[in-house]
Amino acid sequence: MNFVPTPEQKAIIGYPLRPLRVIAGAGTGKTTTIVHRLAHLVEGGLSPERAIGITFTNKAADELAGRLREVLSLLAESGREVEVTTYHGFAYSILQEFGAIIGVERDTEVVGPGYVRQLFHEAIATGSYEVLDLTWIPARVDAAVDLSGQLARNLLTASELIAKGGDDDVSLQRLELAGIVQRYDAAKRELGVLDYGDLIRLTHQLLTGHLEIASRVRQRYEVALLDEYQDTDPAQRELLRAVFGDGFPVTAVGDTDQTIYEWRGASITNFDDFPVHFPEQDGTPATTLSLTENRRSGSAILAAAHELRVELYGDAQFAPLRPIATAPPGSVAAEFFRTTVAEADWIAEEIVRLHEEEHVAWNEMAVIFRKNNDMGLVRDALQALDVPVEVGSLGGLLDLPEVADLHAWLRTIDRPGDSIALARILLGPAYRLGLRDLAPLSRWIRPNRALLGDDPDLGWPLVEAIDQLEEIDGIRPEARSRLVSFRKLYRRFLELAQGSSLVDLCRRILDETGMWNEVEARDPGSALTARVNLFRFLDLAEEWSPLRGRPTLQAFLAYLELIVDERSAAELDTANVGSEDAVVLLTAHRAKGLEWDTVFIPTLAKGVFPFDRGTLDDPVSKARFVPYGLRLEAPVDPELDDDERQVALRTVRDRQEWRTAYVAVTRAKRRLYLTGAHWYGTAQRPKPPSPILDAVGRAPGITLNVRAADPGERPATLSIVPAAGAPDPLFPTGWENALRATLADTGWPESLVGADPTSYDAAVDQIRMILDDMPEPPPPRSEETGVDTSVTGLVTLAQCPQRFYWSEVEPLPRRQAAAMRRGVKVHRRIELHGRGEMPLDEISDDLYDVTDSDEPPGNGPDPYSVYLASRFADARPRFVETPIDIGLSSGRIRGRIDAVYEPHPGVWEIVDFKSGRNRGNPAAIVQLEAYGVAAIDKALSPEPPQAIRVTFAYLGGGDLEEVTVAADASWLATARRHLEALLGQAAGPEYPQTPSQACYSCDFIKFCPAGSAFTAH
Ligand code: SF4
Repeated sequence: MNFVPTPEQKAIIGYPLRPLRVIAGAGTGKTTTIVHRLAHLVEGGLSPERAIGITFTNKAADELAGRLREVLSLLAESGREVEVTTYHGFAYSILQEFGAIIGVERDTEVVGPGYVRQLFHEAIATGSYEVLDLTWIPARVDAAVDLSGQLARNLLTASELIAKGGDDDVSLQRLELAGIVQRYDAAKRELGVLDYGDLIRLTHQLLTGHLEIASRVRQRYEVALLDEYQDTDPAQRELLRAVFGDGFPVTAVGDTDQTIYEWRGASITNFDDFPVHFPEQDGTPATTLSLTENRRSGSAILAAAHELRVELYGDAQFAPLRPIATAPPGSVAAEFFRTTVAEADWIAEEIVRLHEEEHVAWNEMAVIFRKNNDMGLVRDALQALDVPVEVGSLGGLLDLPEVADLHAWLRTIDRPGDSIALARILLGPAYRLGLRDLAPLSRWIRPNRALLGDDPDLGWPLVEAIDQLEEIDGIRPEARSRLVSFRKLYRRFLELAQGSSLVDLCRRILDETGMWNEVEARDPGSALTARVNLFRFLDLAEEWSPLRGRPTLQAFLAYLELIVDERSAAELDTANVGSEDAVVLLTAHRAKGLEWDTVFIPTLAKGVFPFDRGTLDDPVSKARFVPYGLRLEAPVDPELDDDERQVALRTVRDRQEWRTAYVAVTRAKRRLYLTGAHWYGTAQRPKPPSPILDAVGRAPGITLNVRAADPGERPATLSIVPAAGAPDPLFPTGWENALRATLADTGWPESLVGADPTSYDAAVDQIRMILDDMPEPPPPRSEETGVDTSVTGLVTLAQCPQRFYWSEVEPLPRRQAAAMRRGVKVHRRIELHGRGEMPLDEISDDLYDVTDSDEPPGNGPDPYSVYLASRFADARPRFVETPIDIGLSSGRIRGRIDAVYEPHPGVWEIVDFKSGRNRGNPAAIVQLEAYGVAAIDKALSPEPPQAIRVTFAYLGGGDLEEVTVAADASWLATARRHLEALLGQAAGPEYPQTPSQACYSCDFIKFCPAGSAFTAH
């Protein structure tokens, strides 16, 4: 491997096994350095299993593990790896192993923020209150969630807080809030679940109350690496000290300048005080080494970043970031406009100019915002110029029209009373109804509701009226027929929602409402924007799940409400963006850890960025905060008087804003644009330039270009007027132009068809083909249909019934399947390629039928490159990632076929791609059997093929290996019998342990005597 470390890196890599703090400035090659430190230790004789890396998010953990695997490739090939996990994952694994001692069962589930809020709603409903204001329940839920989180981050319980008492107004409110938290905790105990705060608090309790367990955990390792340590909270620090304190060779890596999560509990002092918290064995503070050579940005950009640090440090000394000798200088431009619309238009035009004149790829440019809410205008301006856009912030995603349509369907399915969502669907392009068409429904609702005894003033779900359409007069025939179509589809989705996973339901909505087809028909930029962002939403639906069990639609919708508020943990993870050729829009929090050639940072006006509002962490005036005296650490000196405290808290908030700006600025490699405007949103007064612009303007060579010194009057509207045409293949210049042309000449629409009858016929043929390809609805569930499983489940069953039992019947906890996620990633890229686009670099679990053979081989070319070199890359599949749902007499099988090609009319080749090598697994054939039977049973199309071939395409190991079987009538009959037999076996009651080579990759080996015995030999 051609890695030549700098002297700074060399010192860190070769540092002996002693406590060490590494201050790693932005862009200084932190990950490379820590990976090589671990690799150096392993090469020096440390067994990889004796090292552990802990980081913040699953994504970061996967990346770190991947980098280690690359550097230690020989060991990785033999299955020996450094353990890499997250802070919460580390705590959870200790609780799973030893938690029974303090009453935590091994299979305890961990619930996410959506479910937590649901439980808090219930806890609020079951209490009685004297001082708490309950007029707006969501605000009380927010307050109780905050209090509960802060208690956990300070290793406290609600009971301990209540025991402290208090009689002033705020304390009394806090006591009632703490009562809500107590009831919430009781509900969790009853349900046998924990939240993320509990994981840390309980693990700390376990380790400090049972020192022998802390010692056992500690003895497993010889070195620990703590990544992104500046983001840890006080409770996480204490947990880590309980295991890795007292001279243990622990290396913490971080950068105080990038601490931007104080508001959710990150401790600003954890990193600063690490040498004291984790001293040498003799008690002397740990050593600190620094990385200061920036390998990312040009010197002009570093000069701008330096000025932000000057604001943070004042007169105090700090080590400046240095560019590498070969770095180009880069450029920084600062522009200030009259209105935010002018600002957004200018950004969009400059992005187009850079792309067209300087050939900067779309995905080499990002626009980084302070808040999701600021994103809309720039997004609209870019879309008006047909620039493909990828929204990397989850909150901003829901504003995109195509995602909003899908979201509206989900809301209508889960909440029939949500008439706003329903109206969006009915008045939208799919049904094109007008309010006049809905008026007869509303008229019918009122008397009928009264008849049923409901309150007629409360209204009634519109969907009820659609259900009774036949009783309602006055609807014009065309509108009635559209409402009937809607009703049919809606009923179908209601049924699907009962038995499908969330992501499957979303996909069915996209397929069956024709949203995918509509997207495909758009102009390339707009189609790419829609496709990328819909996939991001699907990933969100897929990733949204507790550690075990399936998420419900209701909880998912609650979670979406949360991310709009930017309050969820997921919103804080680094975004997965950049593989699609689209300009990325995201918040600074989501941008942390990423980099682009060109970065725009808009909204730099006073009060907008740095943002000068938001609640200050002041327990004297706010009941939702734990009093300073009870905390492990306080944000400001508890002895300050009221005024001094307010000033100090504002300083804390402002410094965090400056650090957020620093994170945003240091994402740029070559070009940095900083922009702002006088007029924003609903503000009634113009704003001056942000102090960030003033600070950056002090750097040599950077001058703020104020384009409108006089802000003038407040503009009447601040919105972008779309210039692009409507996405309709019939009217490529847009509906508005079509309307004008028709008004001028009523024969114009006809002339469209007359001018090119062949394209009209071709369009009709295409629609016919789409209709032909619509799958039959799944057969209704019957009482006898006892077993309902997936194709992957059946393959597991064929391999080892016991493994199936522990996966599907009585699920046991499973380790994080990083390898499987890599397989999923390859499938995602192939799917996007099959749909006609370059891939989105995203991961999501168990969406695809990914089995053991999908694990990549470790080394060798990426399976996706093997796919690109194969015959499949150039062939256009007839079906891509098509869900199947087949009913046999012994049960039902669900799955998803990677691709179906039609080399000759009526001849189908069904292909399943494997990201690994062919390991000759005899059970794998079950997958092809299910696909063949699905095709012949019309699960893909009402018109079954005349001939079928089924193929496994193995992409691992650098070469394509194909295994193809001609699925003739006799093969299909055997396949059907085999599937029936397996379904029968899936019903139990016997699930024998059946050891084989598969035991080596079985998640349950540590619970399985037969598997352990097999692998021991
Ligand atoms: S370890 Fe082997 S025998 Fe045991 S459940 Fe897993 S696959 Fe079956």
